[in-house]
Amino acid sequence: MPNRIVVQKYGGSSVANVERLENVAERICSYSLQGDKVLVIVSAMGDTTDELISLARQINPNPSDREMDMLVSTGEQISSSLLALAIHKRSLEAISFTGSQVGIITDTDHAKAKIITIETKRIKKELNSGKIVIVAGYQGVSINKEITTLGRGGSDLSAVALAVALKADICEIFTDVEGIFTTDPRLVAKAKKIDYITFDEMLELAARGAQVMQTRAVEVAKKYNIPLHVRSSFSKKEGTIIMEKTPNNIEDPVVRGVTLTESEAKITICQVPDFPGFASMVFNKMTQGNVNVDMIVQNMSHDKTTDLSFTVSKDSLSKAVKLSENIAREIKAGEVLFDENIAKVSVVGVGMRSHSGVAAKCFKALADNKINIGMISTSEISISCVVKKNDGKKALRVLHKTFELEKTK
Ligand code: ASP
Ligand code: MG
Repeated sequence: MPNRIVVQKYGGSSVANVERLENVAERICSYSLQGDKVLVIVSAMGDTTDELISLARQINPNPSDREMDMLVSTGEQISSSLLALAIHKRSLEAISFTGSQVGIITDTDHAKAKIITIETKRIKKELNSGKIVIVAGYQGVSINKEITTLGRGGSDLSAVALAVALKADICEIFTDVEGIFTTDPRLVAKAKKIDYITFDEMLELAARGAQVMQTRAVEVAKKYNIPLHVRSSFSKKEGTIIMEKTPNNIEDPVVRGVTLTESEAKITICQVPDFPGFASMVFNKMTQGNVNVDMIVQNMSHDKTTDLSFTVSKDSLSKAVKLSENIAREIKAGEVLFDENIAKVSVVGVGMRSHSGVAAKCFKALADNKINIGMISTSEISISCVVKKNDGKKALRVLHKTFELEKTK
């Protein structure tokens, strides 16, 4: 297919040093020589963004958001211009741009700006003149003409948004792993690369702890139905296609992947007097305090009081406990307990929509392995169980085996 518009995003590890930048340049040139119009989005080299943030904090522990965006956006400017130079060396034409130069217009929310529009004129002009266009990821310019960034991992979003704006034929996300796996291969040796996964499953896996792509980027890809190909920049192998509906010659597996998170803690407010509105009161306070609540369980007891348990991220535990203690005092509830030694395992798959018994199978497998379940929550396409922290990795392996994910093709 000549004259395809190909959008490629290269993550920080793919451009971490000169050798890797050269490798990326080689790949880009091979597409261009085939006749593709190539638009490249790059992340900052290696850990540059973290290093810039820590540099700023050494100077001022409370840096202003505007100056931070001025600072961290430079990481991507370095990698994009170096990449252009590497392509010039190979005698092809390339031009690098900042997000601002190509008109990625955002709102004014520094560090987590939302894209409002993208002006494609300049990019189209350069692509049509035969140049490879390289855009610094993660950044834009606000309606007030300030430099903004799109949240950590935001180069994924830059890539997807540009693919949407240019109506690209292909959007490839290059990273240092071969694609999306049935679970973390560092925890389960038999983890398998997945060929196809739906947007919904990818979003659910990401929300339950899988870290491959920025969630906002997947949401935008889903909204505009742009398939994404997540693959390794170190090999030629095909990776994982994330799409709306996986090819229907194969029936969707009931479970596509399993995840483990150890980043949450559990809080229990004991003996809460049972009156309408107390749950709303508790969770309103959490929202006001910027505490994200994940699982919630409420247990009626005989004496007309209830125990309310919920999980929050460990980072916000002390704040959440303080808020809970204030509420408990106010409504004359009992003590507030917390437990940091928990892990959450989740199974995810769109096949659950049409198969029953997945939850039962999951609970039985854990029980057979003497793993006690502390809390349960379900959605249409996922089941999550809180277990003791020490049981977490074992639970993950048990579930991976129970749903035969090592046979994934
Ligand atoms: N360099 C930015 C970060 O580390 C953006 C990205 O890599 O996508 O978060
Ligand atoms: Mg990154």
